[in-house]
Amino acid sequence: MINLILFGPPGSGKGTQAAKIIEKYTLIHISTGDLFRYEMSHDTPLGMQAKEYIGKGELVPDSITIGMLRNKVESHPEAKGFIFDGFPRTIPQAEALDALLTGMETSISALIALEVQDEEIIKRIMLRGETSGRPDDSDESIIRNRIEVYNSETAPVFDYYKQQNKSYSINGIGTIEEIFDHISEVLDDL
Ligand code: AMP
Repeated sequence: MINLILFGPPGSGKGTQAAKIIEKYTLIHISTGDLFRYEMSHDTPLGMQAKEYIGKGELVPDSITIGMLRNKVESHPEAKGFIFDGFPRTIPQAEALDALLTGMETSISALIALEVQDEEIIKRIMLRGETSGRPDDSDESIIRNRIEVYNSETAPVFDYYKQQNKSYSINGIGTIEEIFDHISEVLDDL
């Protein structure tokens, strides 16, 4: 099994690259952001809880997020591997993911971080907000909060997997194909 974490700040291109990776490597793509947006659009209790945090650019609490992720992973017993996109975003999430995979007799193969500078991210997300319909993509102060939360709570996850010799950094500036080529180089060496 190949289990990948696609890592990087909001707007760094994780979703775009995930779509290309699943095509080439037949992995199951799990984006916690997409799962929350699905729940919110259906006004489920989980969606209504998540909305409060997402609207402010804050993280949804681990207690909610980890359970949702676990259900999704367990609903794919046939999977040849997973791409985790937007998860884990905290150290407790990383620990829970490792425990879940250990229980399935597998583990994370690599964490691939897309590096993009803050000002470029703000430009990209504001542009995406013009068509995504996402309220958290349209307000600069919410976007700045998401970046702050990334730097304080999520960035440590890179070091957590670095200690396991699994973290790779990739320049997230370039064409979609150039970035995908760099990701493929890492994956083909695993
Ligand atoms: P994303 O589409 O990955 O940028 O996620 C959009 C929003 O959903 C984030 O700003 C968070 O509020 C929430 N979210 C997504 N994934 C997680 C996670 N792993 N932990 C906590 N909150 C999350």
